[in-house]
Amino acid sequence: MRRKLAAGNWKMNGTGEALTALEAIAGAHPAATVDLLICPPATLLYRAAQAVSGSRVRIGGQDCHAANAGAHTGDIGASMLADAGASAVILGHSERRADHGETDAQVCDKARAALEAGLIAIICIGETLAQREAGQTLDVVCAQLAGSVPDGIDGTQVVIAYEPVWAIGTGLVPTLDQIAEVHDTLRQQLIGRFGSETAEAIRLLYGGSVKPGNAAEIFAVSNVDGALVGGASLTAADFSPIVTALEQAAG
Ligand code: PEP
Repeated sequence: MRRKLAAGNWKMNGTGEALTALEAIAGAHPAATVDLLICPPATLLYRAAQAVSGSRVRIGGQDCHAANAGAHTGDIGASMLADAGASAVILGHSERRADHGETDAQVCDKARAALEAGLIAIICIGETLAQREAGQTLDVVCAQLAGSVPDGIDGTQVVIAYEPVWAIGTGLVPTLDQIAEVHDTLRQQLIGRFGSETAEAIRLLYGGSVKPGNAAEIFAVSNVDGALVGGASLTAADFSPIVTALEQAAG
């Protein structure tokens, strides 16, 4: 059985005072029955990991370099994230693909580095609105999945986040049927490539405007193993009900 995961992506938000929100999230779920992860900006990683030490919340990065160390000014290696207290890293988020031109091949290299450093790799994929309207969604996400996930993986260490670009931060959400269609297709592609045992261990998150008001219905969709949450992960008031909805879906 895949353990459900509620992951928060704080993006480029938060200085020291944001640690109180993190502590409130951890304090609200002392006996969480699902995995909880918050990915703060890199500047907060170490303090965040200290702040949630002993709680059910784990800390993750938002990107890493494909190399472990070297002459890459401004970048962070996966083992550095682990050293700072991270246990996971988000890779290939659409904002990084758009802002930094990250390709599937680069995301794949980063994922390999993350896995080698002992981090869980949360690999993001998703179509733009133009691609959805052109009927290309399944082709796009399948190509991204094929290109962004390395060979020879342990399924428990890889998480795929399906995040339609047009749903991120917009309040727009695909229909439940549209989410199911993508997630079922991704699962089938993973089974075809890695075999059932590995593929069934890979968690598939939905991401894009998940809020307390829509979380429960999204978590009831087949092959949705949790959520990657942006804006609604910044406060316990928003994130906590999403965690509770996921716990209820887990049964
Ligand atoms: C995200 O940034 O990964 C995301 C899903 O953002 P939001 O929940 O704000 O749409």
